Amino acid sequence: MSYSTCLLCDQMVPMYEKFCDKCLANHPTLRQEKFYWKASHDYASEKEKLIQFLHLKGRSMEQVALRVDRHNEIVQDKMCYWKNVEADSWYLYIPRCGVGSLKAHTVIENQDGTITVTPSIEVVGHDNGKPVKRHGYLTNGKWKEV
Ligand SMILES: [Zn+2]
Repeated sequence: MSYSTCLLCDQMVPMYEKFCDKCLANHPTLRQEKFYWKASHDYASEKEKLIQFLHLKGRSMEQVALRVDRHNEIVQDKMCYWKNVEADSWYLYIPRCGVGSLKAHTVIENQDGTITVTPSIEVVGHDNGKPVKRHGYLTNGKWKEV
């Protein structure tokens, strides 16, 4: 019998299965696909998408967002925020989701240039046409997924 690794935790699983039993139990929304074939070329991207989907990164750690001067200075794979001086409003960019206006939020600019936003932020966007919803707190420039 051949083996592969669970997409979430790298534990060994039978070759055609996506997840180990432990991950399936921890995440009831996951579905085992009995005859799933892990092609090596898309294994990494599949894994990344899954982590994003489950917000595992946000849940396990805070993510530092990058302050940029304006919209066109966004770094594609980094969470970024900036102030539109003319409009006197702040914006947040979330990779694989989109840009959200913080107009309806209270934004405090800290001494170190980071911002703290209240209440929590919800951004509905898309990733290659697939709808994505992110919800979290931005505190002192650090994002924590809800
Ligand atoms: Zn697992």
